[in-house]
Amino acid sequence: MINYVKVKIFISFVMLFISAQVFPQINKSAGKYVLVIHGGAGTILKSQMTPEKEEAYKAALTLALRTGYNKLMAGESSISAVEAAVIVMENSPLFNAGKGAVFTNEGKNELDAAIMDGSNLMAGSVAGVTTIKNPISAARAIMEKSEHVMMVGSGAEKFALEAGLEIVDPKYFWTKERWDALQQIKKQDSIKKINNQTDKKSIKLGSENHDHKFGTVGAVALDNKGNLAAATSTGGMTNKKYGRVGDAPLIGVGTYANKLVGISCTGWGEYFIRSVVAHDVAALMEYKNMTVEQAATEVIMKKVPALGGDGGLIALDKDGNVAMPFNTAGMYRGTITKQGKIEVLIYKD
Ligand code: ASP
Repeated sequence: MINYVKVKIFISFVMLFISAQVFPQINKSAGKYVLVIHGGAGTILKSQMTPEKEEAYKAALTLALRTGYNKLMAGESSISAVEAAVIVMENSPLFNAGKGAVFTNEGKNELDAAIMDGSNLMAGSVAGVTTIKNPISAARAIMEKSEHVMMVGSGAEKFALEAGLEIVDPKYFWTKERWDALQQIKKQDSIKKINNQTDKKSIKLGSENHDHKFGTVGAVALDNKGNLAAATSTGGMTNKKYGRVGDAPLIGVGTYANKLVGISCTGWGEYFIRSVVAHDVAALMEYKNMTVEQAATEVIMKKVPALGGDGGLIALDKDGNVAMPFNTAGMYRGTITKQGKIEVLIYKD
């Protein structure tokens, strides 16, 4: 009898061992993430938020996660999932992308976006566009339908029109909140100039553009073929100068994906460009064998602040591990697991 029990226990152990070897992906994917999004980092403080506004942000982030997740569950690619999630946020006035884009110094909305397919390193991006309703779709069209990676201004708009994308009057991007933010920053700047309080460094780097509420949007997804994709879309920074381009549309800077990891950034673009943030995270993983959490933390908590920059990023690796470091007060962010469990966060919880 005792022997029989021992044999049974032994057989169960052998079966468990074999299943872990034969079906590692099943065990690995349990509880792992398939989609991660952000709605921008910045000075996002609970004390400055109304419960209604907080709810509105959480609802928009949840909708973006659900929309991308539904694509993945329908067997669509990670590229389709990140595009779909970003479109939801571009169409919301809450985020600094698409509809809710911030204003330039001249009172215009100039939008940047990029998308990258980690399975083949194909990428597309647009910069300085003013009439494309969903710049992320234009970035995807450039990746899939042109021989180029990046197109800017009126050329990108012409291409988007030919690709059948929705073109809008620039007035579509006008929102009162963003307009007021521009007036506010301009007022603060003129007071600073009168008082001669701006130090040399801030004049050089354009602190007048730094409104501490970045609000760019981004997404990284892992599809059921194991392919990663990343996407980022932004209006840039309030009061930016004519023709200024940030990190978001630059491949390897604000947006990057390969077979190991996908990354989308948000923050003070000039510093992210100088730190080549997204590719640096991927390189630390590839060449230094760091985990996604270690690599993302190294870049956002050490390298970018060492230059004087701030912001955050989201990263998702090929095994469904996620990292979302930020060195600002808050970052709108959310994740969804393979089982559909959603988590949405705003502050340093
Ligand atoms: N990174 C963006 C830029 O500098 C701003 C943001 O993250 O909201 O254009």
